[in-house]
Amino acid sequence: MKINLFLIASLFLINSHLNADIRQFKFSRTNTDLNELTRIVSIDAVEEDSVTAFANEEEWKTFLSFYIPYRIIIPVKYPKSIEMTDDDLRHVNWSKYPTYQAYLDMMASFERDFPLMCRIDTIGYSVRGKLLLAACITGDLEKNSQKPEFFYTAQIHGDETAASVFMLRLIDTLLSSYDKSEDIQKLLNEIQIWINPISNPDGAYYLNDSTFIGSIRYNANSFDLNRNYPDPPHVSQPNTHIRQPETLAMMAFASQRNFRMSVNFHGGTECVNYPWDSTPARHPETLWFETVSHEYADTARFYSPLTYMSNFNRGITNGWDWYPVFGGRQDYMTYFHNCKEVTIELSDQKMLPSSELKTYWEYNKRSLLNYIKNMEQGITADWSQNQIIPDSVEIVTISGLMIPVRKNHAIFHYPLNVGFYDIYIHYEDSTDSLKSIEVCKNQLTNLTPRVSFTDKDVLHPDNFCLSPVYPNPFNPETQFSLLCSSPGIIQLNVFNIQGKLVTRLNTGFLDAGEHYFSWDGKDKNGKGVSSGVYIIQAQQSKRTVRQKAVLIR
Ligand SMILES: [Zn+2]
Repeated sequence: MKINLFLIASLFLINSHLNADIRQFKFSRTNTDLNELTRIVSIDAVEEDSVTAFANEEEWKTFLSFYIPYRIIIPVKYPKSIEMTDDDLRHVNWSKYPTYQAYLDMMASFERDFPLMCRIDTIGYSVRGKLLLAACITGDLEKNSQKPEFFYTAQIHGDETAASVFMLRLIDTLLSSYDKSEDIQKLLNEIQIWINPISNPDGAYYLNDSTFIGSIRYNANSFDLNRNYPDPPHVSQPNTHIRQPETLAMMAFASQRNFRMSVNFHGGTECVNYPWDSTPARHPETLWFETVSHEYADTARFYSPLTYMSNFNRGITNGWDWYPVFGGRQDYMTYFHNCKEVTIELSDQKMLPSSELKTYWEYNKRSLLNYIKNMEQGITADWSQNQIIPDSVEIVTISGLMIPVRKNHAIFHYPLNVGFYDIYIHYEDSTDSLKSIEVCKNQLTNLTPRVSFTDKDVLHPDNFCLSPVYPNPFNPETQFSLLCSSPGIIQLNVFNIQGKLVTRLNTGFLDAGEHYFSWDGKDKNGKGVSSGVYIIQAQQSKRTVRQKAVLIR
């Protein structure tokens, strides 16, 4: 009897914890203004005629003042299907969820087992002092070379569980496949991948450190962290939520890094959701977002039953079209950091039964890898040798797209769709204009930097060299310089790829020093030549130097 009473008492205790002060509820979509309500409660899903939402105590009081009829959703209190383990997930075939300790141990093991490829960084701490961790994964980590950076982050809603296991499994796959797969080796040699498996550990391990049962959407202060970020200026009444420790840590982390693409993983439905969430206006790169989102969803759909990711437009949706969100991370990263972020919802069930983790991983594993490869199509530049690093890169063809260049990060990189782009590179007191820069499928176009010869080069007694042309490819004009340590007659000519003379740029005497030239893509008769590869060749007595120039009409 005594025991029974104790049991009842503890069940009651767990019950009250499970409910916390967070309510999940449903109401009719008819006659409701979602644009207003999304500022008051945390909308989770919008269906044809109904809306599902969460609210903390304060949000609930405000919602009640609208007199909207609602139905409370009672959470399943003890889902038997959520199996946890203290063990390494690799030992249980990735079919259980990790306890907090198992999670920490696994993250530590990645760094310990692959010290040359993996470093675990602490992004910050949760309200209850839990660790917000990210694995940095790349080839030649020890060289500390700068590379384009990519970011995956999961479980910002503590009760949307599947992605944390997928993230751990992805880290393991990347690290353990590096030596076996050329594909992964290439990816890791070119990109630095950051993975944060649990971004709301307090919500995930809400009841205690050993279970996801009783996990909550919000953090320990009852804030939805995915409604807690600064809104872009296109939002007329930006949210004024108190920024939570998890949010501030993530904001500081994003400012230190140089992310160009990221994903925020969720559960509760199955789709890829792309910006904007916070305005009906279309993002100028909507075509890019739709392309990469479809690639993710189509690949997952190919490897899964017909019903998977079959909602919306073949599994993808514009954020606002689904429902407005203010304070979301996706729009924050996309607007404030020029890091194109999408939100991926992995399973209709928020808490995917642990027995289904392997199946859903199979649906998604190719998409998870392929999505990172989108980083390898776009533009890039390495300004590490430049004396002056530009302030910003403006992609004129995409209205309003101005990307600040980080002075401590000389590798510039931006993923783009296939096509031609006019680009301005803004320096403090000048601007370089690059016309019709072509981005080809699965390739990065190098915005070849201007190379200035150093004093050492000029003073060297025996130097004779041509700088790379800039811009390259070019249209209508490209520039370059010739450095000669001794004066003399110098022939400077342009040849086509067949070796036929196109035009002469210099035939006479030049002093020692650096001389600047340009070529306007015209032949010796002043007629514009066609698109193609041309060789610029300088010759002084017996010495010859060449550079390639690509003209794109
Ligand atoms: Zn979510």
